[in-house]
Amino acid sequence: MSLLTLKDIGKIYVSEGNVSVGIRGVNLSFDKGEFVAVTGKSGSGKSTLLNVISGMDSYEEGELFIEGQPTSHYLQKEWEEYREKYISFIFQDYNIIESFTVLQNVELSLMHIEDKKERRRRALELLDRVGMTSHIKQKGSKLSGGQKQRTVIARALAKDSPIILADEPTGNLDSATSEEIIELLHEVSRDKLLIVVTHNFEQVEKCATRHIRVFDGAVESDHVISRSEISCKETEVKENTANKKKNSDFKKGLTLGRAIFTSKPKLSFFLCLLMLIGTLGIFMVTTLCGDASILFEKNYMFEHIDGRVVITTQNGAVISEEELENIVNKYGAKDYLHYDILLDSYSYYMNFKYQGEDKYVEFAYTYGEDFGDDIIGRYPEKNNEVLLYMPISYQPMFGKNSIEIKNISYSGMELNVTGIKYYYDNNITPRCLFTSEGFRTVTALHYIFTRSSTNISVRIFASEGYLINEIQLYNVIPSFDMEDGTAYINSGEYTKFVNTLYDKNCKTQINFTAQYYNYDYNNYETSQKAFSFVRLIEDENIVDNGPVINGYAGEYDGSVFMSVSLLREISEEVLERAYRQASIFFENDKEARIAAEKLKNDGYIAVTSDTTYTPDATTVIIGLIAGLMVAFMWFIAIVFLAFFIGLCSNRTIGAFKGDMAIMRSMGIPVKVIKTGMYVRMLIALIPAYILVIATAVLIFTTPKFNEFFTYLYAWEYAVIFVGMLILTLRITRGQVKRLFGESVKKSLKGGAAE
Ligand code: ADP
Ligand code: MG
Repeated sequence: MSLLTLKDIGKIYVSEGNVSVGIRGVNLSFDKGEFVAVTGKSGSGKSTLLNVISGMDSYEEGELFIEGQPTSHYLQKEWEEYREKYISFIFQDYNIIESFTVLQNVELSLMHIEDKKERRRRALELLDRVGMTSHIKQKGSKLSGGQKQRTVIARALAKDSPIILADEPTGNLDSATSEEIIELLHEVSRDKLLIVVTHNFEQVEKCATRHIRVFDGAVESDHVISRSEISCKETEVKENTANKKKNSDFKKGLTLGRAIFTSKPKLSFFLCLLMLIGTLGIFMVTTLCGDASILFEKNYMFEHIDGRVVITTQNGAVISEEELENIVNKYGAKDYLHYDILLDSYSYYMNFKYQGEDKYVEFAYTYGEDFGDDIIGRYPEKNNEVLLYMPISYQPMFGKNSIEIKNISYSGMELNVTGIKYYYDNNITPRCLFTSEGFRTVTALHYIFTRSSTNISVRIFASEGYLINEIQLYNVIPSFDMEDGTAYINSGEYTKFVNTLYDKNCKTQINFTAQYYNYDYNNYETSQKAFSFVRLIEDENIVDNGPVINGYAGEYDGSVFMSVSLLREISEEVLERAYRQASIFFENDKEARIAAEKLKNDGYIAVTSDTTYTPDATTVIIGLIAGLMVAFMWFIAIVFLAFFIGLCSNRTIGAFKGDMAIMRSMGIPVKVIKTGMYVRMLIALIPAYILVIATAVLIFTTPKFNEFFTYLYAWEYAVIFVGMLILTLRITRGQVKRLFGESVKKSLKGGAAE
């Protein structure tokens, strides 16, 4: 059985309506060890014959047998396998991959060997055989014609296929080099079938064992010249394939991808740069536009503090301190907070001095929260002490290892900062943690005195019951420095009156009027009523020298400084009557939920603070708009990026076209080449990913940047990364489609033309 048999093979070309005959009625049979020279005039069908044998061109008539097996039913995939297994092709115009080094070109054919070192060893051995050892690091483009052809021969040998086809391999070489190449070919292919097309028979005469003449697409003559020499010189290099593991197509693709990436450094660098700009762009857009997570944020009914349960009575009765203490004991709670309104209120601008300037930070007030052990300083212990939980961007001001700003104030109330904890997620509102006493103080301040329903005035009486004047005051400031039960009126107007009218009989009083709504829970629609109370502070408790806060007392003209105890006393008079809610703190949310169930049986409405609600339409719409904005920015960024990468890679596609076709003609499966293309693009993405992560780390660890960029969560990074990945894959798919859309032969011609 012959290695290769052509039976009545015919190939017709149809182009632009013209039918031309490539070859017709060809009957030939070949065996290993033959050196076949094919000659004939230009256009006689020599190339067509080789192309058909190589499986790069189809045939319409007859049958081609390989090792006795017919091939006419082959589809592209089978032809690929056929080429991979049987064929090495050497072209007139070399078809070396110019951007690859000599060594890479040869190694390309050795990808089936898994072990890298073995691959290298084998490539060097083959290059030694063709006399190219001294040029292994040279790029294909830098070689002379002869050197290119030697490299291609080494590459053809690397495949160790039984058939080597050479289409005018010396057509572009001078005669001396031509002879060398033919001799080399002859020497290295003694055990193979070698078919050489040439228009110069003299060059091959010495070596050829058979001479086929082609004329007008048909075989004109077929002479055996001499017997094969296979017996006299047994080839020395024998493959020891036994212990060699076969490399998978995927690994081949990986190797190829790396080679493609490194072989065009400028292009690859540019690609990396594009990916980098794109990824960074999307990242910046995301972090500057805001956090997309608002779309998925939970809507808590109350400020969520782990273990917190909010309770109120079902009948609308006011909850007493005693009752709360009983609940704590009964259910094993950690703690309770009676007047918890501030936990769920807005945040407040607190003022501090930094390098002589007034600065403001917005804080929510909190109590009972655990910020862990890794805080700077300590947790608050006194009622004027606070722990600040704030974003890292405040670190330069408040200090890194020690507390640099020790005082912070809220509308004149001075608080001592004893602890600080910084965080990176700047989507969170800063929080100011109080002791339970401290929290009650600020609650008193807010619930009673900063409401418009509270009226404070100074009344001056000439004698008991005889009011001379009443001065309206605007503000109450709790002062932790003042003696219990005392107040200080910081008002120029007051002093004026006292100076002119005051005599021994005049008495001064501070008069409070507060209002609150007393809801009737059984009938709340109609019986909403206001309630007032008056609290008088006697003359003797009004002190002459009040606190001077940061030298700013003047700023609070018209306000009353008062001791914390006095403030609390007054406020609780209202709160005790009107406040119907409280928070109980348990170890964690799980325990809180269990306790809440029991509390319900005891006649309370109990809601754990991790309870969420479905937001109303407005909130949903606002959230949606914000989310859409981010999505839109992402979209724009991605479209731009896709456009640019597409543009740039389309420009370079021509350069690849030729290379891809060469690889295909070498019998490298399309799958491997495609994998290689994908790998190359994905490698280009790596620096972008690393840089984005590095930038993110920089932004969120450098306090200065933390202020300007929205903190992104891991999943948002994942979205960016996956987005870039999908984008890259899509672009590559487009390229692959364009590259492999046409036949090998056409690509080869197209590639060679460029
Ligand atoms: P040779 O290699 O001997 O010069 P070819 O095999 O290239 O000859 O060409 C044989 C015949 O087939 C010629 O008439 C040529 O015009 C025709 N032919 C070859 N390739 C094509 C093609 N792609 N499209 C149309 N005709 C072709
Ligand atoms: Mg030709």
